[in-house]
Amino acid sequence: MTEAGLGRADPSPAARPGDLGPLAPGQALAELHAGNHRFVTGMPRHPNQDAGHRAAVADGQHPFAVIVGCSDSRLAAEIIFDRGLGDLFVVRTAGHTVGPEVLGSVEYAVTVLGTPLVVVLGHDSCGAVQAARAAASTGTPPVGHLRAVVDAVVPSLRRAAERGVEDINGIVDIHIAQTVEAMLAESPVLAAEVTAGRCAVVGMSYRLSAGGVRTVAAVPAGFAPAVPPAPAVTPAPAVTPAPAAQDAPTPPPGAALLQGAAPAAPAAA
Ligand SMILES: [Zn+2]
Repeated sequence: MTEAGLGRADPSPAARPGDLGPLAPGQALAELHAGNHRFVTGMPRHPNQDAGHRAAVADGQHPFAVIVGCSDSRLAAEIIFDRGLGDLFVVRTAGHTVGPEVLGSVEYAVTVLGTPLVVVLGHDSCGAVQAARAAASTGTPPVGHLRAVVDAVVPSLRRAAERGVEDINGIVDIHIAQTVEAMLAESPVLAAEVTAGRCAVVGMSYRLSAGGVRTVAAVPAGFAPAVPPAPAVTPAPAVTPAPAAQDAPTPPPGAALLQGAAPAAPAAA
């Protein structure tokens, strides 16, 4: 963190090349979906990763999303959302478990940096959730501080049991939603930002093999990505352009991802 203490952020957030400028929560979510679409389809742009941008953002940061993700080595936020330096404020713990330091980091980003979106990012086959389930089934808690991770997942295991959900990825979805709820319950600061409309909180599940994300929770209810402001990934045809691109029936990449994967069918473990 380069901001002095917990003072105010740079008041001119859109001044640097590559910055997206101030975004509404829905616009921020659309940017994440657009970047994930580029990553999934093998057309990443790797924005804001050059030396010029590195120098430009050295004096301040204006990330448009906070990612509270699992520490899994295959879940690197800047890669799967195709973003660069200064774009994402990332906090990672095994099983995206949330304690005071995590909440403090989120509150810093939301209230000091003005970040409009918080994403809880889990994934299929999560080892932390599997470890918690194994500990619960055997009655043998893990040694050392790993127990704190397992204990933090236990409420999600209970909720899954109440709902009759047994497959690991169904439990992961419940744990993601539970994490969203816990963050808002334990952070009145974050909850107030959401109530004021300055921020939204979304839970996403990432597929390790396919690379796509699926929304499993959103606060406020019904929160969805705005139409992506970024240009299309595919170059426009050189001749006979479409008369009105805005009227094209093709949904934006983010919307397509959301709609295509919306039914949360329990997947095989
Ligand atoms: Zn994990």
